[in-house]
Amino acid sequence: MDKHEGSAIPQALQQHLQQLGQQFSERLSQELPQLAQQARQLLDADEAERTRLLQELRHQLHRLAGSAGTFGFSQLGQQARELEQHAERWMERLLRQQQSLNEFVTALQALGEQPTIAGAITEPVGKARKLPRQEDGSRTIYILEGEAAVGENMRQTLSNFGYRAEHFNSTAGLDAALQLHLPDALIIDAKLPGEASCGLDYAHQLRERLDEPLPLLVLTDQQDDFATQLHAVRAGAMGLFSKPVDIPQLESRLERCFSQQHGEPYRVLIADDDQDLASRYSLVLRDAGMLVEILSEPARIFTHLRDFNPEVVLLDVNMPHCTGPELAQIIRCNDDWLRIPIIYLSAETDIGKQMNALIKAGDDFVTKPISDNALVATVFSRAQRARLLSDALARDSLTGLLKHADIKEQVAIELERALRSGDRASVVMLDIDHFKRVNDEHGHAAGDNVIRALANLLRQRLRRVDSLGRYGGEEFLAVLPDCTPQQAGLIVDEIRQRFAELRFIADGGEFSCTLSAGIAGTDVHSDAEQLREHADKALYAAKHGGRNQVQIAASEEHRG
Ligand code: GH3
Ligand code: MG
Ligand code: MG
Repeated sequence: MDKHEGSAIPQALQQHLQQLGQQFSERLSQELPQLAQQARQLLDADEAERTRLLQELRHQLHRLAGSAGTFGFSQLGQQARELEQHAERWMERLLRQQQSLNEFVTALQALGEQPTIAGAITEPVGKARKLPRQEDGSRTIYILEGEAAVGENMRQTLSNFGYRAEHFNSTAGLDAALQLHLPDALIIDAKLPGEASCGLDYAHQLRERLDEPLPLLVLTDQQDDFATQLHAVRAGAMGLFSKPVDIPQLESRLERCFSQQHGEPYRVLIADDDQDLASRYSLVLRDAGMLVEILSEPARIFTHLRDFNPEVVLLDVNMPHCTGPELAQIIRCNDDWLRIPIIYLSAETDIGKQMNALIKAGDDFVTKPISDNALVATVFSRAQRARLLSDALARDSLTGLLKHADIKEQVAIELERALRSGDRASVVMLDIDHFKRVNDEHGHAAGDNVIRALANLLRQRLRRVDSLGRYGGEEFLAVLPDCTPQQAGLIVDEIRQRFAELRFIADGGEFSCTLSAGIAGTDVHSDAEQLREHADKALYAAKHGGRNQVQIAASEEHRG
């Protein structure tokens, strides 16, 4: 099995962590004796001086309680936390006797005499998660389906969508293929007649063998059967489809799995006055595939938000000059950043204080020290949810494509870029033929399915640099940078053919659809709206020419 390196900590990361651990222990070897020294001063100080010293000590202990555990000094962290609480009680004048102050000072001095061995037991980083995975052009889908005709049809249709699909009749065949390559997703029949184990049991075993689960879709003839649904979910299924399978719908689900899995790395902004701790968090999150920036000056918060556009903000609570909750409120005062999740990372264990911070602003409270895996999981789940929501708001809900205004803006941007660089770009308008009939004959839901299928087909077939939007009901607008209208014509005509080959299912019957498209190329005289109008005119010509065809607008020079 082609396993990913999972359990081993990458050497470079290990070295980096050790370096940070070393720095931290060097810092300790200075800080701890200072703490002991300050503690001694407590005994001789007058009331006012004592309060000031205690405040300072408490602050230092708080920081220590939050950071020591993360760098492997768990016991020290625990002691610091107890002493912090001790100092707090003393300050609240709950403990006034000289004896309790003596105890406090003795304990602090003992803390100061701790050995600070460099690189003490650094906590293992745990499984290095590879998020996101590398992408290499088109995605590979393996289909395990006992019925040859069903499997072959599915393979053909998914190929039309632009995937590399392979069909296997037996688990033995699939096992052999898996020895060589891991696909991007698996489609498995729940039943598999003629095999010793059913498809779901096989999927279950496969999941245990893989370090990272693969997106899995399950085919069944009894979708409503709760026992099967439960079995499927336990085997790791992300979708369950009953036969005969509506393949465009299945393809939609695949796309959703991929967009969750292979998206751009999540962007995280960290603000913590403890530089070492901030560096360590940053390292751990980077290792999990995220992009991280550290905010060193609170006053620069909006510059960081604007330039880096983070999807999660991690804030320390106690920072000099500006506390975490204050910074969170500053962020929340600005409407542009209402949606960004704010997580406090703090050594504060007092639930009341945590609540207070959350009520002012912020979404979650994580208590330091936090294990690396817990940090990654917390940030990852927040970032994932935030991106899902922001995509849902920014994009067309049926197709996940850009909305009308955004794709028009994209056309303008690409046109400007093309004029600057001298490269040609092409604009494409597409429209589904006789779409009203689809709705009338098969229902609105079937119509929606066709729109989604075309959107997915376009997404698969166009390049990453191309922009694509849903212009109107069943109309799409795309802009292809660095592409002449003739080149665009070839691409779009191929899409036209593949779209015509798609089979849709409604009320047990099959139907298919066609599309027409118009293309216009950038030329010096065009502005964005003119360009789109030229493409629209070409589309009109395609409709008039009998539909199911692609027309290219005559260029400005030819038009005279
Ligand atoms: P033509 O070949 O000339 O393009 O004919 P047509 O029937 O496709 O064109 P027309 O623009 O007259 O009809 C488009 C139809 O698309 C009308 C509208 O009810 C339907 N439609 C628009 N948006 C949606 C949608 O989101 N879902 C569904 N199911 N139908 C939609
Ligand atoms: Mg139409
Ligand atoms: Mg239309």
